[in-house]
Amino acid sequence: MSRVYNFSAGPAVLPEEVLREAAEEMLDYKGSGMSVMEMSHRSKTYDGIIKEAEADLRELMNIPDNYKVLFLQGGASQQFAMIPMNLMKNKKAAYIVTGQWAKKAFQEAGNYGEAVKVASSEDETFSYIPDCSDLDIPEDADYVYICENNTIYGTKYKTLPNTKGHTLVADVSSCFLSEPVDVSKYGVIYGGVQKNIGPAGVVIVIIREDLITEDTLPGTPTMLKYKTHADADSLYNTPPAYGIYICGKVFKWLKKMGGLGAMKQHNEEKAKILYDFLDQSKMFKGTVRKEDRSLMNVPFITGDKELDAKFVKEAEAAGFVNLKGHRTVGGMRASIYNAMPKEGVEKLVAFMKKFEEEN
Ligand SMILES: *Cc1c(COP(=O)(O)O)cnc(C)c1O
Repeated sequence: MSRVYNFSAGPAVLPEEVLREAAEEMLDYKGSGMSVMEMSHRSKTYDGIIKEAEADLRELMNIPDNYKVLFLQGGASQQFAMIPMNLMKNKKAAYIVTGQWAKKAFQEAGNYGEAVKVASSEDETFSYIPDCSDLDIPEDADYVYICENNTIYGTKYKTLPNTKGHTLVADVSSCFLSEPVDVSKYGVIYGGVQKNIGPAGVVIVIIREDLITEDTLPGTPTMLKYKTHADADSLYNTPPAYGIYICGKVFKWLKKMGGLGAMKQHNEEKAKILYDFLDQSKMFKGTVRKEDRSLMNVPFITGDKELDAKFVKEAEAAGFVNLKGHRTVGGMRASIYNAMPKEGVEKLVAFMKKFEEEN
């Protein structure tokens, strides 16, 4: 068996230790005689798994008691609709468009009410985060929406927008658990777990309790009401049970690693290795404004499409896979999530140096 260095943006690398543990428990989970995959989600054993996962996540993120944690399905993309369906009481919301995912969320919200684009960085192919300190946010907007880390373009908010008292809703799919957050600053934090936490199929929604109401837009399906899932502790119907179990293992791994403060330090160290190299390289260069650089997704280019393709191909042959940039931007992108070891980034940089010398 040989494992590669997987720089995929998602589904992405998971801690090897977690995968090994899951493999060991595959046929017989702790003496139950069955796999977690085969287990009733109403069983006492599974109840222990989901409750412990929630408790560990609450501890890691220091989630206040007046927030619910929901384990849902449908991908992050389903939240693009679920958020307006549940929160657009005045049928108006402010969107900051900093990439493809924010844009998709903005467009989807327009199906349910007035989505107002209050800022955008599309003028420079989303290579920066706009100044959000004094935006023109409509008085009656129900919330302000951001995508906090832009997976495709590699930018991240270093300070949250001034929402002028409005509820902040954030898609954190690609920076989930990468550093400490002050949950109390948000109304809703959500993310698909396949970027930084677990297997695709689980979405975690952390939502302030007062935002969970019966008062949803007319016609909102039962399955798309936050209240349905909050009232049932995420067990209204069969949840993505195995995926939640893996997420739980990743939470334990994060606790063992020292929690989110330690992860932040680790992630900063890793990102610095790559950005420092890009800043001095004559061949490779980063594509986003320095102040807005993501710790998780690092896009870069050579400026020559053929050379980019050659690099991606040779990197793959050397065991550094999924470095091709998103189909809409080209070039390369190295996603260096929590589970990417520092050694993987160091070796990638050594490979890039060698490639630069030889080409
Ligand atoms: C990947 C991603 C999505 C889409 O996730 P799905 O689970 O495929 O719907 C949304 N937002 C961000 C920031 C992403 O990185």
